[in-house]
Formats: sequence, C-alpha cells, structure tokens
Amino acid sequence: MSTPHFQIAIDGPVAAGKGTISRLVADQLGFLYVDTGAMYRVATLLVMRAGTDFNNENAIVKLVRSSNIQMRNPKAYEKDGRLTTVLVDGEDVSWDIRTEKISAKVSIVAAHPKVREILVEKQQIIAESQDVVMEGRDITYRVLPDANLKIYLTGSDTVRAKRRHLQSLQHGEFVTYKEVFDLLKIRDTNDMERVNDPLKIVDDAWVIDTSDLKIQQVVRLIVDKVHVMMDM
Ligand code: C5P
Repeated sequence: MSTPHFQIAIDGPVAAGKGTISRLVADQLGFLYVDTGAMYRVATLLVMRAGTDFNNENAIVKLVRSSNIQMRNPKAYEKDGRLTTVLVDGEDVSWDIRTEKISAKVSIVAAHPKVREILVEKQQIIAESQDVVMEGRDITYRVLPDANLKIYLTGSDTVRAKRRHLQSLQHGEFVTYKEVFDLLKIRDTNDMERVNDPLKIVDDAWVIDTSDLKIQQVVRLIVDKVHVMMDM
C-alpha cells in the first residue's frame, strides 16, 4: 500500500502504554490516533450483547458487518479521560468496551481470521487518507507493512499489570491485582501464540521498554525521531 502520508505503526502487549503514548504523539504531530484494539473490543461487545457463541466466526462476522463502527477524537464535552470516542450505530460505547469482562474475551474474538480481515481493511482505509499513529498487535507487519516508523512498545509484566490495575480501580471496577495480572498474562499469551497475525517484534521495529520511563520521555523520543525523519 503506497501512500503519501506519514505512518507510525505501534505494536506491543497489554498495558505497555500504547494508547496514552500514541494519543500524545498524535496530538503533538497533528496526526490522527487510531486505536485498533477498540475495534476488536467493539466486536466482542456485539457478541456479548447478542449472546452469540464466541466460537461462531460467521455469526460474529455478520454482527460486525451489520454495525456501523465509528471512531473519532473526543469532543470537548467528552473529555472524561478517554483517549478516543467509539460509536456503534451512534451509541457511545467508549467505556463499555474497556471493562475487564470485555478484556477477558477479546482475544478469542480477535483470533478469528475473517473478523480480522474486515477490521484490517477498515484500518488500512483510514490510514490511506491521513497521517496516522496506529497502535495494536499486527500494525507493523499486517496493517501498515510500509509504515515510515515501526515501534514495539513493551514493559515488565508487573509494571504493566500495576498500570492496568490502577486504571480499572479509577474506573470503578473493583478487581484485584492478581486478577488483573493473570488476565494480562493470558491475553498476552493468546495474542502471541495465535495462528493468525500474532503479536511479534518485526526486524525493523524500534523496541522501547517503557518500564522505567515516564510517559513524556517516551513521547519526546518518538516525536524527536519523527521530526528528524521528516527533515531528511
Ligand atoms: O489494545 P487492546 O488491549 O485494547 O486490544 C484488545 C485486544 O484486541 C488485544 O488483546 C488483541 O486480542 C486484539 N487486537 C488484535 N489486533 C490489533 C489490536 C488488538 O488482535 N491490531
């Protein structure tokens, strides 16, 4: 896919800081931020609401195809800590898709190749028309294989689980640290070991370990690098 637009592709495991960092980088550069995980979360919400079997790939495909999924920057009146606003058929599901209940099932839904095919196509269409910071699990090699900059963000298991636990508590979800840690490990394993488009580090990725770095430090590193690349 050849495009005149600048593409930053970011992959990484659960709670590596991809969302927060991508949002800030996108804002500083004036790029669009695209959270692809949100799309798989929406698919999972649709399955739960419809009471569909998580293994019924064709039924899930139908649900996804018949829903209008929209993502956009939060408007002024939506600034409640969300990084992006997600609408399904006009309904704001930005927070409904962030629960641990959804997290527990999303990697099952995301493993279906036909579901991935539809969502990857949507993601590629978005990136054709504007400069983007797109984050997920397969962005550096499947969605945007020709991205100008490829990054793999990671962090230690405990640092990532602590971050995710704090986020859950802040949103009124009273889960224990152990529950969060265990779920994080299961989700990472599912995402790394699935047959179709697993999470992996590509050869040309810049690997950044965020365990001991502040968010702003990581953002600075990335923005500076993009400025250098743009001047070249
Ligand atoms: O990024 P987030 O944790 O919200 O992603 C939720 C899930 O969606 C991941 O655990 C993964 O199973 C799936 N996903 C994916 N490919 C992407 C983005 C997310 O399979 N590009």
